[in-house]
Amino acid sequence: MIRISGPDAYRAAGLVVSREITRGMAGRFFRCAMSAPGGGRIDDGLALVFAAPRSYTGEDVVELQCHGGSVTPRRVLEACVAAGVRLARRGEFTQRAFLNGRMDLGAAEAVIDLVDAKTDRAADDAVERLSGGESGRFGEMYGKAVELGGRIEHALDFDEEELPRGFGEDLERGVEELAGMVEAKLSTAREGKILREGALVVLAGEPNAGKSSLMNALLGENRAIVSDEAGTTRDSIEEWLDVGGWPVRLTDTAGLRDAENAVESEGVARAEELIARADLVLALDCELPGALRVHAKCDLGGGEGINVSSRTGEGLDRLREAMAERLAEMAAKRSEESGADATTRQKELLSAAGEALAGARRALRGEDWVVAAEELRTAAEALGKILGKVYTEDLLDALFSRFCIGK
Ligand code: GDP
Repeated sequence: MIRISGPDAYRAAGLVVSREITRGMAGRFFRCAMSAPGGGRIDDGLALVFAAPRSYTGEDVVELQCHGGSVTPRRVLEACVAAGVRLARRGEFTQRAFLNGRMDLGAAEAVIDLVDAKTDRAADDAVERLSGGESGRFGEMYGKAVELGGRIEHALDFDEEELPRGFGEDLERGVEELAGMVEAKLSTAREGKILREGALVVLAGEPNAGKSSLMNALLGENRAIVSDEAGTTRDSIEEWLDVGGWPVRLTDTAGLRDAENAVESEGVARAEELIARADLVLALDCELPGALRVHAKCDLGGGEGINVSSRTGEGLDRLREAMAERLAEMAAKRSEESGADATTRQKELLSAAGEALAGARRALRGEDWVVAAEELRTAAEALGKILGKVYTEDLLDALFSRFCIGK
């Protein structure tokens, strides 16, 4: 599908489909022959017409559905360019949707996460946010902060004696409730990173412990969900798999050692580095702090830890369950995140809101209304930023460039 958006969309698309497109066609689709202006026919497809503001971007939009493959979409795209359109930048459609008020920033972020999702769980999470579940929640929190702050500012116009009884306590309860909502959001924001980027799970153990075999056994039973992406450097054998809904990047340090045979010591150093970076380590018949202890080759005899056999498949389910459990715990506990992704942005703002609310509570207890009002304003501002009520050009550019072109 090729989407054309903007005030000139009808005219440009009209040139490609050799037919005049008007606002009256909005909400309908029609079959069309496609060609470059003045050129021969390149496809037979459909055109869907949307009129501003009722479209994805909020602008006039025509979507051309053409056949797939490697040649036709390119030719239709070229025909569109010849008709006067330019290629969209990454995330530009969604950016315009945001700027035209079709969605808030939280929903725009959810679109990125939905496109990037690698497991059902990650996609479910994004859809939930996309459908406004989360934005609604942020909107509620923002509204509450504004309301509480407003009540205090209003009270500043009165004398102390004129304030209703229990005024401070009422406000404090409200602030407390809001702080609870912020805290609840913070804990799910932590889960988000694992859902988006996957957890790095490393197989560790002596040579011949059975690491490669276990990796293959786990992959064999769990369809690998993504092959490694072109352009990423392959410093170890890494495969994606779905462990109870958690996206996992499973890495075998043995593969690394084999590849580095000539420089064995460097291979070992890199294995150690991988283990240090891992979200979860599966320690095959060896001792590693914090790791999940696994006894491999249990068909040959039992041992300490989760008994598995790559040969018979025994214990693999139990291992997967234990991994999923660990990942869930980790996601819930995780407090440190790195990188400048969308959820880190949300997390920082949520933390800022949480701190301001704590300040507001202290001020309310000391009946310092001026400071309380100020802290609530700070909290409202932070929550408003999550929704994009306050935004900067830099933030928008950074955010929308995470999209692929055409979204
Ligand atoms: P790595 O060096 O840790 O990657 O170990 P490998 O996966 O290459 O396995 C080392 C040896 O153990 C190979 O000969 C495998 O066939 C054997 N092996 C691996 N897993 C099992 C298992 O579950 N049962 C049995 N009986 N042998 C296994």
